[in-house]
Amino acid sequence: MFSDTGVTMGRRIWIGVVLWFWVVCLAQASEGVHWSYVGETGPEHWGSLAEPWALCGDGTRQSPIDVGAALPARLPPLEFDYRSWAETVVNNGHTIRFDVAPGSTLHAGVNRYRLVQFHFHTPSEHLRWGMPAPAELHLVHRADDGTLAVVAVWLVPGRWSGSTFSSLWGALPTLEHQRYPVRALRIDPEDLLPARRDYVYYRGSLTTPPCTEGVEWFVLTEPVEVPPGLLHRLGRIMGANARPVQPLNGRTPLRSR
Ligand SMILES: [Zn+2]
Repeated sequence: MFSDTGVTMGRRIWIGVVLWFWVVCLAQASEGVHWSYVGETGPEHWGSLAEPWALCGDGTRQSPIDVGAALPARLPPLEFDYRSWAETVVNNGHTIRFDVAPGSTLHAGVNRYRLVQFHFHTPSEHLRWGMPAPAELHLVHRADDGTLAVVAVWLVPGRWSGSTFSSLWGALPTLEHQRYPVRALRIDPEDLLPARRDYVYYRGSLTTPPCTEGVEWFVLTEPVEVPPGLLHRLGRIMGANARPVQPLNGRTPLRSR
């Protein structure tokens, strides 16, 4: 026969085991789940494809957005101190991502972020008054406390300077899930930025599952001109990989002046 304490202890252990199992299941619930940009695994279904992706469906501070209605505000200048190079590139089936060696930072006011990677979307994810750009570059940064800050740059066909875009062009992998070294190509992220660094700021989310919120967004308002052939090649390799714009739900994007 169990004493009262024995029963309580047994119940606690049982609850602990169930909880542990639930956490492990939740962590694994999205592993291997396929998502895409069209059809039954497209953006409108992401939230129901896997439990950890629920925010994709019921989050209230999601990205991307239309930044057309941003209000002018006094915002700190973005200070880019990019001193490192892209080390590897991978076509992960959703985008083409360049992982950057440590040593590049972004300062926004008192906040400091380290550049981790950059990748592309065709067409752009952020719109201005309903209009997309042909492509969008996302420079993903992380603060010491884990906060993500993404600088978005619209890419348009035109004249370009510097060798970075030519190097990029040659480094785009068509084969999926294969990681390639790119250090020799010396891709300089600073070359990827426009001359003017005016921006729209708002708080949003990752634009891919799990759509985690609390991401700081800095959408540069001046686009960068790139070789038209590069845009075609990006589009051909990645296909359309832009999540539709999400409701503001009371958020007010701010425009630096
Ligand atoms: Zn992105």
